[in-house]
Amino acid sequence: MNDYNSGKSQAYSVETLLTHGGRIPDEQFGFVNTPVYRGSTILFKTLADLDAQSQRYLYGRAGNPTTEAVESVVTALEGAYRTKLVPSGLAAITIALMACVKAGDDILITDSAYEPGRKFADGYLERMGVSVRYFDPRIGSGLGALMQPNTKAVLAESPGSLTFEVQDIAVLAEAAHAGGARLIVDNSWATPLYHKPLALGADIVVHAATKMFVGHSDVMAGTISTTEAAWDDVERIRTLLGFFSSGDDAYLVARGLRTLALRMKEHQERALAIAGWLEKQDGVAQVLHPALPSHPDHDIWKKNFTGSGSLFGLVLEPAGRQAVAAFVDHLELFSMGYSWGGYESLCLPVRMGKARSVRPWAQEGNLFRLHIGFEAPDDLKADLAAALVRYSAAR
Ligand SMILES: *Cc1c(COP(=O)(O)O)cnc(C)c1O
Repeated sequence: MNDYNSGKSQAYSVETLLTHGGRIPDEQFGFVNTPVYRGSTILFKTLADLDAQSQRYLYGRAGNPTTEAVESVVTALEGAYRTKLVPSGLAAITIALMACVKAGDDILITDSAYEPGRKFADGYLERMGVSVRYFDPRIGSGLGALMQPNTKAVLAESPGSLTFEVQDIAVLAEAAHAGGARLIVDNSWATPLYHKPLALGADIVVHAATKMFVGHSDVMAGTISTTEAAWDDVERIRTLLGFFSSGDDAYLVARGLRTLALRMKEHQERALAIAGWLEKQDGVAQVLHPALPSHPDHDIWKKNFTGSGSLFGLVLEPAGRQAVAAFVDHLELFSMGYSWGGYESLCLPVRMGKARSVRPWAQEGNLFRLHIGFEAPDDLKADLAAALVRYSAAR
């Protein structure tokens, strides 16, 4: 069970892994949780030890027992070879992309990808001589036709966290591999509890650990998990760039992971109940939730996922900005803000704007992103029902 970061514990159920994974009380004087390790200098006893460079810890930036406590749990959950904790979900994306390319290479990114990841590709990788192209999130096996000899990475996000297109990872992996590229998947929405991209053929899985892993809206963190073949490239780039997560942050990620299975179950149930209810309300044009039979990618979701997340989209009938303000400005329980994954419900109006390039968002009406937290579902429904009344009155 306690095998640091090797991913050998996959025989256990996820609940057991989340409860026991990454804890080695015998090495911590019996303390149940791996405490916060802070440190830069790690001491060598002899010149022979210094020369051998073989002790478990060499320097603070490479990790410590607290960061490893997180990494070994995520490794086991994702069925990965290894995992590294990094300072944010965005850092996980940027490191993963950089690990795959050099000047002259090409990458393909889903048009539904997390926008700051796009900005990194457009604003930095392009400058470093990498060409960046985007593809229709629903391209499926059509990805093969876009592959070029110099395409080295494909970045998918399933489902996209604003528009919720579901991508068939096995199909994308086959096309990427046939063209000699690695497939990177952002798995933040479903978590490895409900979707395992590596088992479907992906090479690298990234998480905004900030969201569901942490679960309390109080830490920024990311994880990168890979197959054995992809690991050296990822770890080399991370080491070269100096990305490191502190023991303090790692401790809170580890704490969040202990309740992930329970929280996901509750988020799933509550989000589905509210999404299904919203579908029947006046003024609602569409609810974008992959687990609803009305979702265009519901079949892919059913095939590849064993559950659904807290987050979904709500499209209201067309109306001006004043109606959007009427909807969000007087919500009593839903708050407005970026991020998601905490215990508290959020409602974010989304302006697609520059977030799409290949396949502009054509859906009429106003898009909102809802994260369903742990307030009583009936209270949340009442809050939304009142907002719908205000919206239609302001149209
Ligand atoms: C928030 C988010 C990220 C980035 O995570 P940070 O920790 O905020 O940098 C990446 N992908 C998705 C899907 C996200 O929602």
